[in-house]
Order: sequence, then C-alpha cells, then structure tokens
Amino acid sequence: MLRLQNYINGELRGPTNGKHFDNVDPSTGKVFSEIPDSQEEDVLLALDAAKKAFPLWSNTSLDERSRILTKIADLIKEQMDDLAFAECQDNGKPLSLAKRVDIPRAESNLRFFAQAITQFASESHRTSDSIINYTTRKPIGVVGCISPWNLPLYLFTWKIAPALATGNTVVAKPSEVTPVTAYLFSKICIETGLPPGVLNIVHGLGGTAGNAIVSHPEIKAISFTGGTTTGAKIASIASPMFKKTSLELGGKNPNIIFADCDYDKMLKTTMHSSFANQGQICLCGSRIFVERSIYDRFKNDFVEKTNALAVGDPMDKSSKMGAVVSEAHMNKVLSYIQLAKDEGGTVLAGGERVKLGGRCEDGFYIKPTIIEGLDYQCRTNQEEIFGPVVTITPFDTEEEALRMANSTIYGLASSVWTSDLSRAHRMADKIEAGIVWINCWLLRDLRTPFGGVKASGVGREGGQEVLRFFTEPKNVCIQYG
Ligand code: NDP
Repeated sequence: MLRLQNYINGELRGPTNGKHFDNVDPSTGKVFSEIPDSQEEDVLLALDAAKKAFPLWSNTSLDERSRILTKIADLIKEQMDDLAFAECQDNGKPLSLAKRVDIPRAESNLRFFAQAITQFASESHRTSDSIINYTTRKPIGVVGCISPWNLPLYLFTWKIAPALATGNTVVAKPSEVTPVTAYLFSKICIETGLPPGVLNIVHGLGGTAGNAIVSHPEIKAISFTGGTTTGAKIASIASPMFKKTSLELGGKNPNIIFADCDYDKMLKTTMHSSFANQGQICLCGSRIFVERSIYDRFKNDFVEKTNALAVGDPMDKSSKMGAVVSEAHMNKVLSYIQLAKDEGGTVLAGGERVKLGGRCEDGFYIKPTIIEGLDYQCRTNQEEIFGPVVTITPFDTEEEALRMANSTIYGLASSVWTSDLSRAHRMADKIEAGIVWINCWLLRDLRTPFGGVKASGVGREGGQEVLRFFTEPKNVCIQYG
C-alpha cells in the first residue's frame, strides 16, 4: 500500500502525529493509498523551512529560477506515463484524458512560467522633466497555495509555478481527495535539486492543515481554488490579517446556442463542455440555452450522442467517461438529479448511477445526464452540481438568453455559438463572466487572465496577472535636476 509523505525542507517525512487516513480509488471503490493526516504542527515545520529558504531563493537569479522550473517541466514530461496513471487512479478520470490534458498541462505550466518570469517587467512613469517614478516588484515572502481535486496536478502547478518563479517560497496543500500526483511532484522537485524549503507540500484535511495555512499570519498571501463556500471561509480568516488572496471559485456556466451557429462543431464541442472529466471542470457549461427554432433538433441529437457516450473503466482506452471523484460526491450529484425531478424536470438521458462489472463493480459512476423543463431560477439551475449533469432550456431572444445566463450568483466562464459577428460582440460584452468563448470551448492561452466575477472569485490567475499577484509593488518617486 502506497503511503504518502509530506515534503518539508527538501525531505519526505511522515506527519508528526504519525496518523494517516485512507485514499480511495473511485473507479474501484477500494483503498489504494494512505495520506498523512497533517496538523498545524506540520504546517509550522513547513513554514519554518519556507522562511529560512526565502532569502536565498528570492535572491536567486531569474535565469537560475527559470532553469530549475524548466528542469521540473522536463521531468514531468519524462514521467508522463506514471503521473497520468496516478491521476487516473486517484481521480477516476480516463487515463487518456490525464495523458492528453492534465499532465501535459502541468508540464506547460512550469515551462510557461519559467519563460514568463524572464520577460516580466515593472513600470516607470515620467511625471515631468524633473520627476520620474519607477515601480519595483518584489516577492511577497512565504505564500500558501491550496488546490482542489478535479484537475489535481494541473491546478496545483498552475499556482506553484508562478509563486516560485517570482521568488516566493511556498507552503502548499493539494486536495486530500487527490494528493498522489502532488506527492510524485515532490519527488520530482527533489530529483531536480530545488533547494530545501523553497516548496513544502503538506498533505491533510482542509479543516486542519488547510486552515493552519490560511490562519498563520506569516503566510502572507493565499492562492486558493475550490468551492465558493470554502472561499468565503478563507476570505473571512485571511482578510482581517490583510493577506493578499486570489480566490478561484465555483461556476454555473451558460452555454448559449443560436440557430445560426456552425451546428456540427457546436454539437461536438457541447458534448465536451458538458461531460469532459465527468462534468467536473469548473469551466463546463452546465446550463445550455438553445434558440427555439433549433431546440428540438438539438435535443434529439444531443440525447442520442449522450446515450452513446461510453462510461467505463478509466484505464480502458475506449472509455470516454470514468468515475466521479468519490462516493460522497456521487451521492451529492445524484441528490441534485432527484432535486431536478422534484422541481418538475424531465430526465432525457442518464439520471442514475452506472454499475460496471469486474474490478469496477464498487466504483462511483454516473450516466451523463440531460434534464429539460426546468425554470431558469430553480435550484437545479442556480446551484453548482459539478458533475455530468446539464439542463437544456429554449429561448426566443438575445435579451432572454442573457437574462437567464446572468441570473446566477456565479460568473466564471461562458460559451456563445453564433455566426453573427455583431451578436458575438454584443453577447461577449454583456455576459457576466470572467471568460467568454465564442464558437469554441476551453481554448487556453496561458498569457490571458483566468478567473471569474461575482461568487466565482476574486483576482485573476494566468500571465502577467498572477505574476503581479505574487509580487508586491513599490513605487519610487524621484525629483531631480
Ligand atoms: P473545496 O473548496 O472543498 O476544497 C478545495 C481545497 O481547499 C482542498 O484542498 C480542500 O482540502 C481545501 N480546504 C477545504 N476547507 C478548507 C479550509 N477551511 N481552509 C483551508 N483549506 C480548505 O473544493 P473541491 O476540492 O471540492 O473542488 C471543487 C470546487 O472547486 C468546485 O466548486 C469548482 O467549481 C471549484 N473549482 C474552481 C476552479 C476555478 O478556477 N475557478 C477550477 C477548479 C475547481 P480538502 O480536500 O482536504 O477538503
């Protein structure tokens, strides 16, 4: 049985209290590893190591930091198969998806920020002939990074890479639900020769290890991705200490389909945006609004394709969908399907647990599910389900589509399908979301700002935005002459 260890001060070590808890493979329902049940004392050890490492790391040249991050990226690439296998086993996602998306993206996160830091510049403002301002940007100190379970290594490295590139030292906690690739990542850091204490990974529960990171006054910034309720709790602890926070939270994203779209491309992409990673991507479009003139055609085609989507053993190449992440999450998603029925919705496809045979007989599988006939303001259409469940709703006018799209507390991402250029711009302008995809979905350029508005978060990740987040600006004003 694999027993994970914390990574503190450059070494792998067990939790101080010696306690562990079980980690379940969602595809089989069986325990396959043990996770350190770290407490505040372990976070304090990590913090101590990070504080000691900060002076050296923050003064390490950009070229050297860039070289180390590039080497980590190289090792991720080299160990692609092992990392993808671990991600698949820990999360339940298809192995093919982990190989195609999760691990390559973790590699490119490291590679991207290794380059980006060498291009990062700060501003200068000339006020007059005799007055000039220049702004310096220095690392903050020890920062905390806390990540969720849906895209484990991908989102973990999306935070850690810019935090390290900018010269901070880090205390990080991956989700306790999917910690294995973060553990393998710590081994890669040791192999790379990352100096001790620069990155520290503490495994454990959110309420204990996570809370200790958020609450400690010497951890000066918190970069968090996870649920909106957790984000609010973190903000309530961190804000009175005036910590910098970057909060990437939940979503309930609209996918708005006009009759004049490229129908085939839209249908193919909508299958992905609805059910990729079992619908457990914060960017999935879970509320589909379809112009009435093509509603029936879309409904029939979408239901047919969804019924044909193969749910199966994630290790099997032919599986398009694997298991959802845990039994508790499966039950939560199933309870929302029941809620949709109670609210008067009609289940057009799926709507139940799938029982597979063989090694997967106790795994946590849900059929991809389509529901229609719900009011846009009902709970099913307002609350984040975060599973393979979408609703479809017809609309008649742009205004109506916008009203329904903007009706939730969330504002993370959105998609619009139309061949009318003017309408595309109008919709992009009026949708309340941090990200709008027109005639596409999930196309990512790592230089662009990433994040949401309203209850989907505060701040942006990606490109210059995150390099700014992880640095503290200081303006120097000089009068001369
Ligand atoms: P959670 O909010 O439950 O957990 C996220 C992380 O926070 C985990 O590491 C968790 O640890 C930790 N945590 C939980 N409670 C605390 C606490 N009190 N103090 C400090 N840390 C804590 O989210 P999920 O892991 O369930 O992830 C799913 C959510 O993430 C969805 O809402 C989804 O939309 C959102 N998400 C947002 C993205 C975005 O970019 N906006 C991207 C991906 C997901 P533990 O696992 O031990 O509880």
